[in-house]
Amino acid sequence: MTSERTRARLIRRIQQQGIQHTAVLERIRQVPRHLFVDEAIASRAYEDSALPIGNSQTISQPYIVARMTEALLATGPVEQVLEIGTGSGYQTAILAPLVRRVYTIERIAPLLRQARQRFQQLRLKNIRTRHDDGTRGWPDYAPFDGILLTAAPGGIPTGLLAQLRTGGRMILPVGSPEQQTLICLTRTAEGYDQQMLESVRFVPMLTGII
Ligand code: SAH
Repeated sequence: MTSERTRARLIRRIQQQGIQHTAVLERIRQVPRHLFVDEAIASRAYEDSALPIGNSQTISQPYIVARMTEALLATGPVEQVLEIGTGSGYQTAILAPLVRRVYTIERIAPLLRQARQRFQQLRLKNIRTRHDDGTRGWPDYAPFDGILLTAAPGGIPTGLLAQLRTGGRMILPVGSPEQQTLICLTRTAEGYDQQMLESVRFVPMLTGII
């Protein structure tokens, strides 16, 4: 289930869907995704699909994690990244060694606790975590070079855009639970440019903490 062959098959699949960034593909090959899901479904960890992680949330599909990471890094090195929706911590773990530091916020305490344990286990030291409602961002460390949302707001979160430096990119799903688009916003001096990436299905971004 965790064999080289199984992981190689996943990488081939993701490449066939258009992912080219070598370092991103290498991270997907290296990170043991089976540690990010319950043992009961660990045998499915290297399928290219979203899987349940408890509390009605899901670990993102590897292809989408690769796509978002590739889009974030497309214009060159990125230092400080804010991630909203730590979930299992899988997207965070893929990204962390590719940037200087990841600041990640999760609103559900038990999920964050487990994610922290995984970061320790994998010796990922450049991740700062916070139990909070991420819609407010993390003003103490702003501005960020990049912001990733792994839960979908109904519209463009302009408050978060204000925490992006000019030239920085925000990759996020937006829309209703039934219909969402993955978009890339680049902050400009006047406002932002918007690029549509593809149709996606994420859990909704919610307010408050539990
Ligand atoms: N990247 C994660 C995806 C988890 S699903 C992974 O690969 O595991 C999205 C996560 O966003 C859920 O854990 C959900 O609780 C969280 N979330 C939703 N709204 C949020 C908010 N306002 N602030 C912080 N986290 C939020």
